[in-house]
Amino acid sequence: MFNTEGNCDWCNRHRLLIRHDYIDGKYNHSCESCNDLAKIDVRLFNTDEIALRNKMAESLHS
Ligand SMILES: [Zn+2]
Repeated sequence: MFNTEGNCDWCNRHRLLIRHDYIDGKYNHSCESCNDLAKIDVRLFNTDEIALRNKMAESLHS
């Protein structure tokens, strides 16, 4: 839902925004035209973060 008004974190324009949550608790807002890109960015970040956590968990156990 694009229900927040403010500056898009991707294009910096003042628009209606949707929130994207990162798994570390942070979040960014994107406008409709940046939404696809934002989704990819957030997914990549979260995938990396999960991989990193798994690696750290493994090194703790070994
Ligand atoms: Zn934007």
